Amino acid sequence: MSDNVSAISTALGAAGVAVIRISGDSPLKIAEKMFKPTGKTAVCDFVPNFMYTGEIDCGNFTDFGMCVYFKAPKSFTGEDVVEFHCHGGTAITKGVLNQTLKLGARLATKGEFTKRAFINGKLSLSSCEGLIDMINSESEGAVKAGFYLYREKLTKTVEEMQTILLDAISELDADMDFPEEDISTLSITETIKKLQIVRDRINQLLSTFKSGRVVKNGVKVALIGKPNTGKSSILNALLNDEKAIVSNVAGTTRDIVEGAVDINGVRFNLFDTAGIRESKDEIESIGVNLSKKALNSSDLILFITDGEEFNNLDSEIWSIVKDKNYIFVQNKIDKNPTLDKRADISVSALTGERIEDLKQVIYNNVIDKVDLASDYLCEERHYLAMQTAVEKINVALVNAEIKTSDLLAIEVKEAWDVLGEITGKTATEEIINNIFSKFCVGK
Ligand code: GDP
Repeated sequence: MSDNVSAISTALGAAGVAVIRISGDSPLKIAEKMFKPTGKTAVCDFVPNFMYTGEIDCGNFTDFGMCVYFKAPKSFTGEDVVEFHCHGGTAITKGVLNQTLKLGARLATKGEFTKRAFINGKLSLSSCEGLIDMINSESEGAVKAGFYLYREKLTKTVEEMQTILLDAISELDADMDFPEEDISTLSITETIKKLQIVRDRINQLLSTFKSGRVVKNGVKVALIGKPNTGKSSILNALLNDEKAIVSNVAGTTRDIVEGAVDINGVRFNLFDTAGIRESKDEIESIGVNLSKKALNSSDLILFITDGEEFNNLDSEIWSIVKDKNYIFVQNKIDKNPTLDKRADISVSALTGERIEDLKQVIYNNVIDKVDLASDYLCEERHYLAMQTAVEKINVALVNAEIKTSDLLAIEVKEAWDVLGEITGKTATEEIINNIFSKFCVGK
């Protein structure tokens, strides 16, 4: 038995339409009391999945809209669900919601609809995570990464690996029925083979995380170089707008200017920094400090020079970035065409020459040659679980060598459990609550 929970499923604000959703044991009973169909079909006779027009009675006012009923278990939550499609706008939407509450529904908590879908076996835990990722996506890459999880592709891969481990456990169990004997050579060979298959598969997946993570979260790129080398101009050229102020007076870029560029569907957040140099100007010193901070927290640094003589300041900045992940960009090749051999790429922000190539170099730096059309990891939680699982399998393989079947089985079972946390089969209440706390109300 589950109570009826209700929430606004669309974003609040002036809009053409809004959706209020109720899920639970008897949402249709609430609909009966507040929806007057235009046609002859009474609410209690609504055919599932069909939209009906009618008046939505909100107590103090009435709207004209639609109502649809999804019958359990063929609904998003796996329970009976009713949706009201009313006109958008704060007052109407809240009015419809309040009426559902007056008629007995309870306001849904964060992510409660999706949590119910998980509890009722409609979605795995990783699928729920994919769904929230999709909703929060700001780039095509993030949508794709979310969709991959949402559509249970990782779940399938994890379950395949769990099946192999389970087979291995069954064989070991059979062996343990005869504890006085050593593990039979045949079953040990089989077990080792199975563990190796899973281990290799997990290692392959772990290697995709570096790229998968940035596809989902975006990449923080800091532009650094001495004043006037053209950092703001490169940033503008990459962003294709005039966000940073470009001036030929040294040291005018005081703020960290943020902008985002989409390269091959991946979001790159760019930070222009004040040139690192000693400054007596207080405001500029703040900028210098900020730029050092930005440098330390970025995934990638563009170290920019302008083809003029490589002086002490350039060397000083280079010494700061050289142990980090950086790309050496020589700017102003229109003015100083002699190529600096140390540079990874030479461009002109002014003419736009090789700016598109620069985008590709930036992309290649953070995205490995992994096939994002196949399996990959993008959630840290999944990555950590797989890392633990592979550690357990490695211990199991050592135990297999010394033929202690009981210890071996314990490790394999633990690896199986850890993999189950990804899909939610063995996830603790704490893990589950933590995931749904990131959802918005109404999802
Ligand atoms: P920042 O201090 O490093 O941010 O440099 P700015 O972007 O403000 O550029 C400093 C000066 O160099 C401005 O006058 C720009 O117009 C000029 N500049 C920037 N990029 C280029 C370039 O590729 N070629 C030439 N000739 N001038 C450039």
